[in-house]
Amino acid sequence: MPRAQGAIRLFTIFGISVFVHWSWFLVALYEVDRTKQYSSVWWSVLEYVAIFAIVTLHEFGHALACRQVGGVANQIVLWPLGGVAYVSPPPRPGATLWSIVAGPLVNLALIPVLLVTLFLSRPISPSPNFTLFIQQLNLINVILLVFNIIPIYPLDGGKILRSVLWFFVGRAQSLMATTIVGFVGVAGMAARIVDDVQAFRREGLGQLLDDEVVHSPCHQGRLKHFAPGWKDGRSNECGRQRHSLSLSRLERGCDASA
Ligand SMILES: [Zn+2]
Repeated sequence: MPRAQGAIRLFTIFGISVFVHWSWFLVALYEVDRTKQYSSVWWSVLEYVAIFAIVTLHEFGHALACRQVGGVANQIVLWPLGGVAYVSPPPRPGATLWSIVAGPLVNLALIPVLLVTLFLSRPISPSPNFTLFIQQLNLINVILLVFNIIPIYPLDGGKILRSVLWFFVGRAQSLMATTIVGFVGVAGMAARIVDDVQAFRREGLGQLLDDEVVHSPCHQGRLKHFAPGWKDGRSNECGRQRHSLSLSRLERGCDASA
């Protein structure tokens, strides 16, 4: 986990200091250069910054809720994988649950805000870039929400599960139960990734995108790293062509994995 030591302090509000780790800038340069769906690179820069603005709001949800229940929370650190709010709620299940659940609630509250912004701005949108920008923020906000509520410790979903169990079986037992669920979940996800890689080698990218992008938003972040055009459908189309190519080769009796 990133620490505030060695990170740059951006600002302090409500007594909570927001830091950004130096590695964030390196990944930002790579990501902004790689995403080319806008007509100007500055929209990519704006999108990247806006994503982390959403992440920061999510972390403020945790921090402010923790303070509300009498806990300590005075640091948020942003890094390429998102953000970390260093919160220490009072050791009570209700206080812990509220401190954790407040983060995803921020993303949930942002869904109607972003949808209304998209709906209202469409007829008067100054450029297609702006519409795409709001669409992307909508999508990424939903992905962040879905990813965070997967009930695997230490994701928010795992911590929420732990806090709920705490009410019924106590602090130590709830942690043990959540850890076991976490191991099972990670093993399941690892098996799924192996399955994906095998499907990729067997069927080509098209089958993966058809199966995964449509049905599983939490996999989009992973997929976009090896399918740079996935957001605008270029890879999907390309993938379909590759997939149909594989099928036609199969029909001709060729080895599709060659
Ligand atoms: Zn969170």
